[in-house]
Amino acid sequence: MSTLVFVEVSEGKVRKSSLEAICYAHAMGGSVTVIALGSADASELAALGKYGAQKVLHAADSKLEKGIIQAYSAVLTKAMQDENADILVLANSSLGTPVAAKVAVKIGASFASNVIELPNTSAGFVVKRSIYTGKAFSLVELKNPKKVIVIKKNAAEVKEVVGTAQVVNFSVSLADSDFNTTILSSEKATGDVLLPEAEIVVSGGRGLKGPEHWGILEELAKTLHAATGCSKPVSDMGWRPHHEHVGQTGVKVAPQLYIAIGISGAIQHLAGVNSSKCIVVINKDADAPFFKAADYGIVGDAFDIVPKLTAAIKAANA
Ligand SMILES: Cc1cc2nc3c(=O)[nH]c(=O)nc-3n(C[C@H](O)[C@H](O)[C@H](O)COP(=O)(O)OP(=O)(O)OC[C@H]3O[C@@H](n4cnc5c(N)ncnc54)[C@H](O)[C@@H]3O)c2cc1C
Repeated sequence: MSTLVFVEVSEGKVRKSSLEAICYAHAMGGSVTVIALGSADASELAALGKYGAQKVLHAADSKLEKGIIQAYSAVLTKAMQDENADILVLANSSLGTPVAAKVAVKIGASFASNVIELPNTSAGFVVKRSIYTGKAFSLVELKNPKKVIVIKKNAAEVKEVVGTAQVVNFSVSLADSDFNTTILSSEKATGDVLLPEAEIVVSGGRGLKGPEHWGILEELAKTLHAATGCSKPVSDMGWRPHHEHVGQTGVKVAPQLYIAIGISGAIQHLAGVNSSKCIVVINKDADAPFFKAADYGIVGDAFDIVPKLTAAIKAANA
């Protein structure tokens, strides 16, 4: 079995979700080739060997600097054909998922997105998908010999193995029709840690009473090297930027730890956080629905609890 993995590079670094995709492919067995598009540091690409890649294809064409879906799918289709790969694995993202769907159509492959576990190959090739915003699962058999799999965050653990990867230039002649869309501008979200990639998220709701009180939450987030998030009403009222809005209609997060402060736990909020490994809820109302979804709960006033929690973490880290 031969697997091709698409990795996304952001500011010269391979994204963590892409490392998970490489580890997923390695855990499936067989050979693993990785492909990166646009500018990427050669040493960063060579280092992918330690996650299980044997070869890294680098399509460094400057036209691939921006993530144009049509062009990316043309390059990945060619790579699947040239490498005679059976499976393409990608991490779920606003780029990876549509590119995956296009490649699957072009090569006539079976397709599954939101995959959360390694395939079961004891009878066919069956993947487990997360559906209905994480409230249910489905088992799907991929019958075509060619398969395209989009994995959800945390589908595979990032583990180092002993191995080296050879980096090879990969050139594709792209047609003008591959660039039938143009990205006019991209706005970078603020914050030291990107919310969708964060291992820890500290999120605040209407219980914090106003934007002037966000300092205690930011201090906790800084202490934990966490990203900050918020509930929808908080971003609707302009207390926090829209890109921090977590939930069904906002960002879906899957961190190791999600700390919810002064958030009631409405179903639409939970839809964006229920893939978190551990949920801690701080709320002054013992009957707040969020406690039902929590691994740990603290009933109390956020303005009292949060500074104490931050001080305790700082003391433990000292
Ligand atoms: C179609 C639709 C889509 C939606 N999508 C989303 C979404 O994506 N994300 C989202 O978040 N919401 C979404 N909502 C809104 C959602 O239904 C809730 O209204 C919202 O999540 C509530 O936000 P909140 O918990 O911050 O506020 P509230 O419901 O007002 O809860 C505030 C909480 O803070 C607690 N609190 C108050 N003071 C303190 C204190 N001093 N210390 C500790 N706790 C305190 C209260 O006990 C309460 O539980 C959507 C709604 C609809 C209809």
